[in-house]
Amino acid sequence: MARPVSYNIYHKRLEDDISIAEMPDGNMGEGFFATKLSSVIGLARKNSIWPLPFATSCCGIEFMAVMGAHYDLGRFGAERVGFSPRQCDLLMVMGTIAKKMGPVVKQVYLQMAEPRWVIAVGACASSGGIFDTYSVLQGIDQVVPVDVYVPGCPPRPEAILDGVIRIQDLVGKESLRRRNGEQYKALMDSYGIQ
Ligand code: SF4
Repeated sequence: MARPVSYNIYHKRLEDDISIAEMPDGNMGEGFFATKLSSVIGLARKNSIWPLPFATSCCGIEFMAVMGAHYDLGRFGAERVGFSPRQCDLLMVMGTIAKKMGPVVKQVYLQMAEPRWVIAVGACASSGGIFDTYSVLQGIDQVVPVDVYVPGCPPRPEAILDGVIRIQDLVGKESLRRRNGEQYKALMDSYGIQ
């Protein structure tokens, strides 16, 4: 006789396990909710980030744990990692970047469409880490602008998740005009990016 299958052994309420994205600020009345367009776009963007993992060494292994069932980046709407820069909006650089890899990181960044964000994961990507040598780039911010730095050698998966949450905060609050502004243009100019 077949054993009965129970999918929910604790008989928990499904609603208790599902978190709902926070509503943006706005005005609510009977049958309507009014808010800013940038808030709605920010809400959609921050909960549907497509990361591009650029992993060169040990920090990449921590990222594998972040994608696993226990930490599960999918809980933040960012489980769809992509390996084509044209589809992704978050560049996650994890590991030691040798100077000869610097132009490669920049090329990947250039192939990503705006708006795009960058996390430097771990000491090596942030500052060269323990490799203060002639061959290692002393931080990827020498070749591309970085939005969030995650410290640690290696950072624990929780720290990487925290970095992603910081990015979500930036993405959710970013003005739609920022990327057309003078300040952003000056930032890109400082990296020789048109
Ligand atoms: S920061 Fe530490 S763990 Fe991460 S790539 Fe560098 S040496 Fe490896």
